[in-house]
Amino acid sequence: VASADLAAHLARILGPGGLITDQALTSSYETDWTGRWHHRAALVARPRTTEEVSTVLRECRQTSTPVVPQGGNTGLVGGGVPREGCDVVLGLGLMTSVSRPDLTDMSLVAEAGASLASVQAAAASVGLEFGVDLAARDTATVGGMVATNAGGTHFLRNGAMREQVIALEAVTADGSVLGAVPGLSKDNTGYDLASLVCGSEGTLAVVTRVHLRLLPSPEERAVALLGFPTVSDAIAVLPALRGVPELSAVEFLDSHALRLVASHLRSTPPVRTADGGGCLLVEVAGPSGCSENLLDAVAVLGSGVDTAIATDHLSARRLWRWRDSAPDAISAVGTPHKLDVTVPPGRIAEFEGDLRALLAHAGPQATVLVFGHAADGNLHVNLLGLSPQDDTVDAEVLGLVARYGGSISAEHGIGVAKRDFLSLTRSARDIDLMRRIKQALDPAGILNPGVIFASSIP
Ligand SMILES: Cc1cc2nc3c(=O)[nH]c(=O)nc-3n(C[C@H](O)[C@H](O)[C@H](O)COP(=O)(O)OP(=O)(O)OC[C@H]3O[C@@H](n4cnc5c(N)ncnc54)[C@H](O)[C@@H]3O)c2cc1C
Repeated sequence: VASADLAAHLARILGPGGLITDQALTSSYETDWTGRWHHRAALVARPRTTEEVSTVLRECRQTSTPVVPQGGNTGLVGGGVPREGCDVVLGLGLMTSVSRPDLTDMSLVAEAGASLASVQAAAASVGLEFGVDLAARDTATVGGMVATNAGGTHFLRNGAMREQVIALEAVTADGSVLGAVPGLSKDNTGYDLASLVCGSEGTLAVVTRVHLRLLPSPEERAVALLGFPTVSDAIAVLPALRGVPELSAVEFLDSHALRLVASHLRSTPPVRTADGGGCLLVEVAGPSGCSENLLDAVAVLGSGVDTAIATDHLSARRLWRWRDSAPDAISAVGTPHKLDVTVPPGRIAEFEGDLRALLAHAGPQATVLVFGHAADGNLHVNLLGLSPQDDTVDAEVLGLVARYGGSISAEHGIGVAKRDFLSLTRSARDIDLMRRIKQALDPAGILNPGVIFASSIP
């Protein structure tokens, strides 16, 4: 799609290292994290400043060249890699600066390509923390996390990425700059455009800089891993756990996922679960002494629950490894179809049962592993043994989610993976309005065509 003229022009604008066309070097931008989506990139533009992002987009607009923005390429719905008709990558990997935190309003400004880990480190250097955490922290970028409105393990307490954004700067398809950073914590002047960009998956604007809220670091943190004989038993303790005031995470792994993680880590799980059971990883974080509240909550769960507790940092990280390693463990044995869904939390066990019954009909090669953020009703349904292109089982699972009154995307977005299923849980009216917003900001349809909506021009 990209012309040689455009490449030559962008090379002049971006200078040495700013443009990649050599296939040996573009290859790392071409395949998504799951390995399910792949397409050759004609070129990768790597701007260093907002002005350069603006110039690249203006050039692409003038030549009607579609562009896919890419951050850390840890997205799980195929929205950040090239595809048919869209083979120019706008990589934000050179824009990585993170400001010193401002202690007066507890915030910092990060460029779009800064990793989550670098934001967390900057916050920790002044005794603060960042509200969103996820296992891909070393690679996922601030821009990608805003674009997907990433949730993560502390959503329960701190909300998603949108809740951490005070203000942002982004470039629209015609090259104009939207918003400004730093912004103000309180600012109700008209439509909240930053909020609109959050979760827009690179289809409305390219995020360049973000002003992020920080939080006080907890004085104490404790983690419990709890093994249950059945999924119903695990879900039944959620109401009691929700009563713990300092609760900061409740994560779930079914027994199949736990077994796979054990083999991946070459280790024995710290807790026992029966086949068909599951485990919960529960974290509290708060003032000194809050571990006691976790211990009290665990003490009343009864003898059927196998328990491992960590009250120091190192042991807590070791328990977290059992949850954090689930995506890697699954990808190590195949190319999964990842269906990140929400169902009402109280119905997780019932849903898991229906899901397994549904999968039993999909043939002996299909296996399902489930883990996720239990307190949010957010399950990552991983289907292995299916052809990467065949969506038949995905359609059945997402149909089941819709019948549960759930959402077909809890936190990963729609991308290309779920664009054909959007109407399962969003009304025709909503989708029409979304298309009109896209049309207003990107009338030529050059920003990430094929993501969220099946057709490139809205
Ligand atoms: C091991 C693992 C664990 C994960 N855990 C979680 C989790 O707990 N919660 C969660 O929500 N997600 C999770 N994810 C998914 C992923 O990390 C998030 O979606 C993350 O926000 C993607 O960031 P990225 O920089 O890698 O974006 P990319 O993968 O590069 O891009 C993702 C999307 O954002 C767009 N985009 C990227 N940068 C920009 C930009 N600057 N401006 C505009 N659009 C842009 C892309 O076009 C694409 O549509 C996990 C992924 C992995 C591999």
